[in-house]
Amino acid sequence: MTYSDYIGRFAPSPSGPLHAGSLVAALASYLDARAHHGKWLVRIEDIDETRTVPGAADTILHALQVFGMERDGEIIVQSQRKPLYEAAASQLGALLYPCGCTRKEIADSRLGIAADGAAIYPGTCRHGVAAGKQARTLRLRVPGQGEANETITFDDRWLGPLTQHLASEVGDFVLKRADSFWAYQLAVVVDDAEQGVTHVVRGTDLLESTQRQIYLQRMLGLSTPSYMHVPVLRNELGEKLSKQTGAKALDLHDPLGELVRAAHFLGLPVSQSTCLADFWEQALAAWTERFGIAFTAKF
Ligand code: GLU
Repeated sequence: MTYSDYIGRFAPSPSGPLHAGSLVAALASYLDARAHHGKWLVRIEDIDETRTVPGAADTILHALQVFGMERDGEIIVQSQRKPLYEAAASQLGALLYPCGCTRKEIADSRLGIAADGAAIYPGTCRHGVAAGKQARTLRLRVPGQGEANETITFDDRWLGPLTQHLASEVGDFVLKRADSFWAYQLAVVVDDAEQGVTHVVRGTDLLESTQRQIYLQRMLGLSTPSYMHVPVLRNELGEKLSKQTGAKALDLHDPLGELVRAAHFLGLPVSQSTCLADFWEQALAAWTERFGIAFTAKF
């Protein structure tokens, strides 16, 4: 691959304005794309329409502009792409099956809790939804013992090699939710492939999803991008900063201060800058050196 084939992306969910945590993910993905002389796409991940806050997508896009992050290409919006997700789901054929279990029933089976907080699914509806029950979700069957893809390993550019055993650590997972929205896991895989994304740089809050996404890519015959999961900012209670945990919107009157704090959090030795151009030059040089990217990058 030549450097110019690099396609990265930032994929915010419009559930509120950009906060210090999402700025870290945006900054890392932006620097990595620019350091590789690649493209940086922005995708609005509003597939979970129950969490969409009207106007939040525009607020996020405006903030990116204030920070001097210039995107490449058109912005795509997941809620407008449902036929693509539908088509991918139908390609999965018999791997996808209806499930009638409620969250409580799955939790009651006490197989444990997956790292992302959901109860591990015991496979109850694999051979059909019990009489008297209604299908609620569509689940993707994960491989059993000895089957191909039983464990999935990838080499994270920040964290090194990571392995997950899908059946015991996750179980068959939901691709179409009880409220009939397509799940994030399906939408993100379809969109990354359809946009030709070669490098995903995002927060470790999504780390536990990656093996599911790689499994889905394999089942759909799609290639797997390279992944880097950067640390996420947490509040005093150790919770990931998010709208739900009370993260404040960024101060757009002080973009340099916000950017320098985000860069320091990522361990980039930038000093206080006098202007955005100076910040970006320093941050790009620091990122390029840190990850040994063999290019003298320019803005
Ligand atoms: N939409 C996700 C979020 O805002 C990011 C998904 C991804 O980068 O894969 O947390």
